[in-house]
Amino acid sequence: MTFRSGRHFLQIPGPTNVPDRVLRAIDRPTLDHRGPDFAQLTKEILPGLQRVFNTKGPVIVYPSSGTGAWEAALVNTLSPGDQVLMCETGHFATLWREMAERLGLSVEFIAGDWRHGADPAAIEARLTADKEHRISAVAVVHNETSTGVTSRIAEIRTALDRARHPALLLVDTISSLACMDYRHDEWGVDVTVCGSQKGLMLPPGLGFNAVSKKALARNGSRRSYWDWKPILQSNETGYYPYTPATNLLYGLREALAMLFEEGLEAVFVRHARHAEATRRAVRAWGLELLCADEREFSSSLTAILAPDADRIRQIALQRFDLSLGAGLGKLSNRVFRIGHLGWFNDVMLCGTLAGVEMALGRKGGVAAAMEWLAKGG
Ligand SMILES: *Cc1c(COP(=O)(O)O)cnc(C)c1O
Repeated sequence: MTFRSGRHFLQIPGPTNVPDRVLRAIDRPTLDHRGPDFAQLTKEILPGLQRVFNTKGPVIVYPSSGTGAWEAALVNTLSPGDQVLMCETGHFATLWREMAERLGLSVEFIAGDWRHGADPAAIEARLTADKEHRISAVAVVHNETSTGVTSRIAEIRTALDRARHPALLLVDTISSLACMDYRHDEWGVDVTVCGSQKGLMLPPGLGFNAVSKKALARNGSRRSYWDWKPILQSNETGYYPYTPATNLLYGLREALAMLFEEGLEAVFVRHARHAEATRRAVRAWGLELLCADEREFSSSLTAILAPDADRIRQIALQRFDLSLGAGLGKLSNRVFRIGHLGWFNDVMLCGTLAGVEMALGRKGGVAAAMEWLAKGG
């Protein structure tokens, strides 16, 4: 193995770079999760999470990856045979659909081209046609991490309202929370799903569900480990029914503190300007963005169409110690993805783009990005 000096550039769209402050917060003795100190930790974390999800309702924390939090959203609210409307925005939407089918749900998948977000008009039309209200839930991925396309959740809410349909709205924000504006309560979302290792700047290992009253009133028939009810009951006194990921929760407390010190609004502005700088670089390289609608540009990552994309990633890793995201599913070897979410700044972005530019053997992208960043864009 060749020796690598300096920091590795982890610019995949999650897991993301973990701040030194968060690493140090995690590096503490594991505490008794039934003791008094633990209850204090829970009571500090849960209100902070509510601020990030923009909700007054409960946020459930699981020792799991994001996939576990997906399952939790489905099994707490739905039972085998229930109908769910999902939208084919990309690889992650496809995986969530496959999970729903394995859980015995009957999924209707609105087809998509992996370059657009979920279509509010198509959702409205389908719900309006469902006069008998057989559809129990609409499930959408907010930021499709395989494509760099962000669905317009506020407009999807309006679609449900205009159809006067009582279906629950389930949203995956695994790669958008703490990167882009998100409003669980205001947008009438019933379950918001998230994970720790993307915008929240933590290592992998925590899953989240923010839950509405309407969702809490549902009781999926096949829930056990994921059951919200015993967790909420234990949370009242600051505990969990089973061993939580204690050291990751130390990290979460620190990550939340960092987000509030910067200010969530400033965090969103930072992500948006790094995304714009990246798009300017892509255009200067003469390459094409996968996202086809500028209203749906992701602030978290950029997916770029490029012939032989895997070769570019391989050069970036081998020569420049830079990890880029691969094309997933049907986009394999057709795109590469640059993650610009989480703990990140202008010069880290310039370094990342410089690595990509060298791997591509093209010119002008870094200069275009720097021009935008330097004038305070
Ligand atoms: C990363 C990701 C997932 C999967 O999360 P895991 O933590 O890998 O289980 C699901 N949905 C989206 C949108 C993601 O970005």
